[in-house]
Amino acid sequence: MRVGIGFDAHRLVPGRSLVLGGVKVPSPRGLEGHSDGDVLCHAIADALLGAIGAGDLGLLFPSEDPRWKDALSLRFVERAAGMIAGKGGSIVNIDATIVLESPKVAGFVGGMRANLAKVMRVDIAVVGVKATTTDGLGLVGRGEGAAAMAVALVQTPG
Ligand code: MG
Repeated sequence: MRVGIGFDAHRLVPGRSLVLGGVKVPSPRGLEGHSDGDVLCHAIADALLGAIGAGDLGLLFPSEDPRWKDALSLRFVERAAGMIAGKGGSIVNIDATIVLESPKVAGFVGGMRANLAKVMRVDIAVVGVKATTTDGLGLVGRGEGAAAMAVALVQTPG
């Protein structure tokens, strides 16, 4: 068994869609980024890569690379999960937390889990997604951005 951790934060800006776990959440502002800025997918992909010692998202999908411009970040999770499968490993479980002041995302968590499970080719029960605020504190509390953290437990052969 191997564990990996991932963290990401992006700025909230007008004129962008708020995409979390591949779900478009209605919001006046969205996450800035070279890709779709999906912090949840980025944290999970980094956790998966960390578990198998395969570097990080920045290494695999450089933000200078035009191929990843406005990319759907679910594809990053899919690729990371594919690397685990390629090593003969399997994902035991994922647990993630979105840190965002507003809008409230609790009603969208089911859709995020379904999207993530689908691209990782695992049962939805394997994917945990939670959401919290920072009670008005810090960059999240001031509405400047959103963050996400994730852990991944992976079983690898040998
Ligand atoms: Mg990111």
